[in-house]
Amino acid sequence: MTSATSTATTPLPLSGFLPVAATHVLQSQRSASNSSNNNNNKAGSGSYSGVPKTVAPTSHNNSGFGPPSSGGNNPILLQSSNAPASYFMSNPLVLSPQVSANCSAALRDFHLTDPNSGHNSPAASSDTYFDEDDMEIEMTMEDSFGGSKMDLAPPTTTTTTTANADTGISQKIASIINARNTAETRNACPSLDANQFELLRTLGTGTFARVWLVRPKKEHRSSGTEFYALKVLKKKDVVKLKQVEHVLNERMLLSVSRPQPFIVDLFASWSDRENLYMLLEYSPGGEVFTYLRKMRRFNQHQTQFYIASVTLILEFLHDRGIVYRDLKPENILLDARGHVKLVDFGFAKKIGSQETYTLCGTPEYLSPEVIQSRGHTTAVDWWALGILTYEFLCGFPPFYDNSPFAIYEKIVQGRISFPAALDETTRDFISRLCEADLSSRLGNLVNGARDVKNHPFFFGVDWKALGEQRMNGPLVPELSFPGDTRYFDEYPMPSPDFEPYRPEVHPQEEHFFKDF
Ligand code: AMP
Repeated sequence: MTSATSTATTPLPLSGFLPVAATHVLQSQRSASNSSNNNNNKAGSGSYSGVPKTVAPTSHNNSGFGPPSSGGNNPILLQSSNAPASYFMSNPLVLSPQVSANCSAALRDFHLTDPNSGHNSPAASSDTYFDEDDMEIEMTMEDSFGGSKMDLAPPTTTTTTTANADTGISQKIASIINARNTAETRNACPSLDANQFELLRTLGTGTFARVWLVRPKKEHRSSGTEFYALKVLKKKDVVKLKQVEHVLNERMLLSVSRPQPFIVDLFASWSDRENLYMLLEYSPGGEVFTYLRKMRRFNQHQTQFYIASVTLILEFLHDRGIVYRDLKPENILLDARGHVKLVDFGFAKKIGSQETYTLCGTPEYLSPEVIQSRGHTTAVDWWALGILTYEFLCGFPPFYDNSPFAIYEKIVQGRISFPAALDETTRDFISRLCEADLSSRLGNLVNGARDVKNHPFFFGVDWKALGEQRMNGPLVPELSFPGDTRYFDEYPMPSPDFEPYRPEVHPQEEHFFKDF
């Protein structure tokens, strides 16, 4: 047994502990791999080529780095990461079946141009290097995406603005991009139309959204370099899952978070009869989650780089009174230079210095005050940063179990086991972030994020250079062209949906959607 238990984290008494009913928690799920259909060939072929694609199962780990070996009646089976199998199989939360059903059924109304194509084509991995020449790109793209393009919107829904070539979307997006830093200017930009884009392939699915790689259709394109991520949310699901407020929050908070380079850029948003759309910058490096599972764990330098970047994001958000509430490796993407891009602001909320009570998040990352419904603040993000640091360095989070309830119990007990290989400084950093007592939690003290940045865990970090992205990240994705998707999993095409959304039945929600 090569672990030590933290004493810095104040355990909460279990008496009076009332775990939230799982059915009431809106939560993100975690997955054993990047998607359920994990027949990808992505990470591992990039500049980090020593990374094992699969790791032989092992039943014990006494390396001093990884999950503590179990003793007695609690055997640990290790999967492709060295976390216990139980961890990867966890989280079938009660509300989740409905959520995941809706998730996989997202976009069912879209009209396939190729109904025979059941799946997206394999991730683009052409050896053709990017060339400004559109034809070059065109060939690569046809190879990569042929047969799976879809028209974006039901034909009856939107009024297009494509008649005048001068109002092509390239110019519109350019004008939006030029309108830096002011949400007002951006919102004044003419709205875009889903029919102006080609859907190339699914990049990922969220709780009730599907994110597509898109590019403007040929007649709207000014160059071959224009690729975007289009997040599409079905109004029907948003309404059914009572997520109207969260979705509006996401859009609003992404648009005010524009100057932060580590937060994905929202270029535009709009809606039609069936869907809500957010046009985002495409982050081609894929999820940090994928790298972590392939590499099993990050080294100190990699962890320090990513955690420092996330610290800058939290500092930025908290300075504006915004709590993020869903920090985890799945929501951190890498851009072409290996810098982080935070996505999914579905649970983010502007709270100022107030407390909020909505129960949301991902079980392993929830803080005790959320679980106990004590009211929470931006401090929950600092707790989650501690969990993230631990997961990066160890390959699994400090509190895991088969069921969310068991995870909640462990979180509230607050005992963190550290592998022997974690040094004292790192343990102290994690313990002080994962501190149940809010008056002692690092990041939640009078100096806020400054205390976090000054912790010796960040020794050697040049905060200014990092914020200005003067250096590349520790893992730089190898990309052939701007629309390369080799770092993303394949997803099945959404199945058809025969139950249309009826706006007339939801006048109140429609009122909010109209300004999306
Ligand atoms: P979300 O619903 O925002 O959590 O997005 C679901 C998944 O889609 C993410 O976990 C990513 O894998 C992918 N994704 C979201 N936004 C982007 C983006 N801007 N660029 C590339 N992939 C994205």
